[in-house]
Amino acid sequence: MAWYGRHKRAMAWRGTRDPYRIWVSEVMLQQTRVAAVVDYYQRFLKRFPSVRALAQARSEEVMRLWAGLGYYSRARNLHAATKTIVREHHGKFPATYDAIRALPGVGDYTAAAISSIAFHAPRAVLDGNVARVLARLFAIRGDLRAPGRWQQLQELAQQLLPHKSMASPGDWNQALMELGATVCTPRSPDCIACPVSQICRSYQMGITSLVPAPRRKRSSINVQLTALVVLDQTGKTLLVREPNEYFSRMWHFPARLVETDSAQTVRALLRRYLPVRKSKREAKLSVLSPVNHTVTFRNLKITPCLARVRALTATPGARVVRLAGSNSLPVSSATKKVALAALNHLAKGAGSAANSR
Ligand code: SF4
Repeated sequence: MAWYGRHKRAMAWRGTRDPYRIWVSEVMLQQTRVAAVVDYYQRFLKRFPSVRALAQARSEEVMRLWAGLGYYSRARNLHAATKTIVREHHGKFPATYDAIRALPGVGDYTAAAISSIAFHAPRAVLDGNVARVLARLFAIRGDLRAPGRWQQLQELAQQLLPHKSMASPGDWNQALMELGATVCTPRSPDCIACPVSQICRSYQMGITSLVPAPRRKRSSINVQLTALVVLDQTGKTLLVREPNEYFSRMWHFPARLVETDSAQTVRALLRRYLPVRKSKREAKLSVLSPVNHTVTFRNLKITPCLARVRALTATPGARVVRLAGSNSLPVSSATKKVALAALNHLAKGAGSAANSR
């Protein structure tokens, strides 16, 4: 605790006891680096400063503010949970572990973090950082996520939690997480600077590099897509929201998996999204260099196909927006990259046209 008092990093969400703010930070930090979260956290809370403000928001606006942070089900669950709080708790954030755990999308870790930090509940958190610290302290070998072992670590974390009179459970939890995030890091633990090296079994046994055992990663797969960027004479384009696993249920350019023949994929997209024969004949096509994007275990290679037409009409389920302002809808990072590739291509074209005059 003394080490934490001296070395904790200053963060926007530290120092608050507001359960809503703690909740938003914990959800944003899942699977996401601190540096990537800071701006999102501030923007999100500025727009939705309370449970009620978020509960009343339109889903599209919530997703727009989350766009780029990834793992979009987090935002959908957060939004749904605020509605539950308004409906079942009159808008007041529930104050017990069990009531928090019962909210949509809230698991053991998040419920323990919120209840311990905001309400001093004696609940130990267990995330990847804490699990690694405990495994090294007690030289627990093997895959920490293996059945039974995670439970063993959870029980250990709970036993170690000091009595409230000695330390706030929330501060204790944050101290362990901070130790894992900054000192007892996955690949190169800084044991010399560590405040608990004298009681660390892995350090004493010289096996810190073996604990925990590396997790078997799901092997990545390569996916090739073609995205159709239709552009009319006023700079507007077409975005759709169709169920697929590549764009996180956000608005995106019409896209298809390239199965065998990319030209055939482009023709299928044109048939589907430019239904007027005249427009099809008028469309001027440019195939741009592919953009790469990784979503969990999928490496996407997306080839934007720019189709310029005179006029554009929205088909059912599609929206017509300015290409340069396509971020006004909730879009994923993959869609932002495709839009940027098209805009850069257009800017280059405009530059060479100006040079040739
Ligand atoms: Fe981690 Fe090293 Fe500290 Fe042990 S001594 S807890 S391995 S940083």
